[in-house]
Amino acid sequence: MSVPAVCQRLFLCLGTAFLLAGCAPGEQAVQVQAVDTAMGTVIRQSIYITSDSKDSKWGEESEGENTEILTGAREVITSLEEESLSWRIPSSEIGSVNETAGNSQGMELSQKMWEYLQRIWEVSEESGGALDVTIAPAVRAWNMDAWTQNTYTLPEKEEIAKALEYTGYEKVNLESGRIFLPEGMQLDLGAVGKGIACDEILHYLQSRPEVSGAVISVGGSILTYGEKPEGEVWRVGIVNPLNTAEQIGYLSLEGQWCVSTSGDYERYVEVEGVRYHHIIDPETGYPADSGVRSVTVLCKNGMLSDALSTACFVLGTEEGIKLAEQFDAQVLIVDGQGNIHMSTGMEPYVTLKEQRVS
Ligand code: AMP
Ligand code: MG
Repeated sequence: MSVPAVCQRLFLCLGTAFLLAGCAPGEQAVQVQAVDTAMGTVIRQSIYITSDSKDSKWGEESEGENTEILTGAREVITSLEEESLSWRIPSSEIGSVNETAGNSQGMELSQKMWEYLQRIWEVSEESGGALDVTIAPAVRAWNMDAWTQNTYTLPEKEEIAKALEYTGYEKVNLESGRIFLPEGMQLDLGAVGKGIACDEILHYLQSRPEVSGAVISVGGSILTYGEKPEGEVWRVGIVNPLNTAEQIGYLSLEGQWCVSTSGDYERYVEVEGVRYHHIIDPETGYPADSGVRSVTVLCKNGMLSDALSTACFVLGTEEGIKLAEQFDAQVLIVDGQGNIHMSTGMEPYVTLKEQRVS
């Protein structure tokens, strides 16, 4: 994952619980909430649990039972990070794949990783390589971990050019459940990991019949699930990339959806008045300069929404909208002038404060 700190997890607030009215007769919904960090990002959980009021001993003594659901969801994320996705952890599946670079035997992938990589490769192909999880050497050359340090120096052009010799998804062989990574190449699933976490949490929630609804955000990827009491819709805010203290509006969603946003405000460093952000154009090895400031993708699948938000950011407005539509996903893009562009299918979900952002 992109930010250090697998070990810096911190439960800021676990188990705030509220009793809510408005369910079916005889039922009560309890809302439990937590804010926490994992995968190098902030995780916000708000889960509604329905129980039969006759049997329910809701009160102090049942709070633990209800907040256990928050702990379970958090564990889904941390084990995904530690066992599967983190390139920083050599024993994770991706860490192990990276260790086999140059090995002619390749490595056998778990069924799940095989399926994820197949779908990631499909987005890479359809986007003409705008999404490329072999971008790792170029991302390392930018040394994003040091972006918070005053002493940060930009990489030399030669360093970027050298890194690009070891990138390119088409150089990787995915065959019969195995991956063959050429020498010097590495995978970094930072562009899709938070969306994959949403997919895994969805499975977890589906296995818990007492959960009537939930909204969970893993950094820039958000999962909505089930229903809110009183039949309200889920509202997912869209940050104004030109002024991140504000929102440009929100999406109104019913039931299960995934929303991922990629923006140049999420991770960046400014050197001599120029902003260098974390979404790299695989063609140049430099931060994508497609004229967009943020891309929000809406679809049913977390991995896909996350993959597409990164790919559309690299492609820019026109091609980005085409790509999202190709995958039956909806997209909203804010460009550098504050203009808002949307796929036609996105319009019914969006409420904007203004038609243009400043
Ligand atoms: P996101 O915030 O989902 O757009 O993902 C950005 C993260 O994905 C970065 O921090 C890098 O680790 C990685 N990344 C950057 N550019 C690309 C790219 N073009 N394709 C795939 N991964 C990328
Ligand atoms: Mg992404």
